[in-house]
Amino acid sequence: MSLKVGRLFGVEVRLHYTWFLIFALLTWSLAWGYLPVGYPEQGDVFYWGVGAFCAAMLFVSVLIHEVAHSVVARRYKIKVNSITLYFLGGVSETAEEAHTPEAELRMAAAGPLTSIVLGVAFYALFLLGGGFLPVAVVAVLEYSGYINIVLAVFNLIPAFPMDGGRVLRGVIWGRNKNVLKSTRLVTNVSRLISFLFIAFGFLSTILFADFSGIWLLFIGLFVQSSAQASMNETRVTQALLGVKVGDIMTREVKTVEPGLSLQQVQDYAFTPFKHHGFPVVKDGVLLGLITDEDVRRVKPEHWDERRVEDVMRKTADLVSANPGDAAVDALIKLAKAGVGRLPVVEDGVLVGIITRGDFTRTIQERLKFRS
Ligand SMILES: [Zn+2]
Repeated sequence: MSLKVGRLFGVEVRLHYTWFLIFALLTWSLAWGYLPVGYPEQGDVFYWGVGAFCAAMLFVSVLIHEVAHSVVARRYKIKVNSITLYFLGGVSETAEEAHTPEAELRMAAAGPLTSIVLGVAFYALFLLGGGFLPVAVVAVLEYSGYINIVLAVFNLIPAFPMDGGRVLRGVIWGRNKNVLKSTRLVTNVSRLISFLFIAFGFLSTILFADFSGIWLLFIGLFVQSSAQASMNETRVTQALLGVKVGDIMTREVKTVEPGLSLQQVQDYAFTPFKHHGFPVVKDGVLLGLITDEDVRRVKPEHWDERRVEDVMRKTADLVSANPGDAAVDALIKLAKAGVGRLPVVEDGVLVGIITRGDFTRTIQERLKFRS
């Protein structure tokens, strides 16, 4: 859903596709609405040219904001994989969450602080240069100042997934030393804020026919869905902290031979054991994995003639885990691959299997003792 535009400080920068639509809409609304009010009696070239330039400044401002986050993250040895730019913000995809409240607080605050500094700087230039700079430059400076302050204020809303939510969590976490409790508190604050946004958005749109209320409505819905996701993510990372794949995998694995027919594997494996997938092993070596879906893709009348090795997913195409891997990394792998189980392999030999069920059970058990 995004386009790679380059690398900055070793971090991949991506542009979400919706950004192009937003760019066009924003240029249009600047050229037709905003600029003619502040700068009347200019030509079309001025309005469209300055409009497009201002929209591009929003992009640059969001980019600088995100880079500020990743520069601080790097100081805390947290790797930022990529930055994806959306309309009023970006998402820095980090490899892990902050380990300490100070790291969380500084990483989260870096973005809005940078936006405030930029906003004030642009606005100062606008005020100082107003008398002698070309009017097009003055218009861009004024808008850049305005938009950076908007970015800072929007991102400082104390709700997940905004920076303000993380700043708040960092502060509470620093006081109570409990990341789970702090996350739950901020999740509840986020729900309250999303409710207020939705209510105000709804009222102003319906009762006062003010369609800018639709923005509030959207932000509210966005906050609502993200808040729960942040809570879940933290619960999972916390529950799996320090857990290795080898600790929670199933060691006694029922395997099947590559030469069996689909009818045989159905009768002797899928039906009696009720698992959804089995590793295919010959002489101790893992050759692949067969799932009930693979079997169902073949019509039952052909089950006698087709073999496991014909329909299985081969090891080369298979995502697998190592017993020494961190459980949370294996869970991410599993989710990214969209599969229900990972074979656990050590030196080419199958030593176990880890399923979604293993993760769910571990997370539930470990959270019981912590909440
Ligand atoms: Zn930010």
